Amino acid sequence: MRKKVILVCEDCLARNYQVQIQPQSTSRLVLKKYCSTCKKHTIHKQTK
Ligand SMILES: [Zn+2]
Repeated sequence: MRKKVILVCEDCLARNYQVQIQPQSTSRLVLKKYCSTCKKHTIHKQTK
């Protein structure tokens, strides 16, 4: 069983990525990924 979450760019709040996580993990996912809106790598955080 996996849970789908959306990753949003910290800078422009664009919803750039959709990832699957383990439902057991309680900490919020934070990844550095490329944002096509910012045209650079930014911090992406998990939405609810
Ligand atoms: Zn961005």
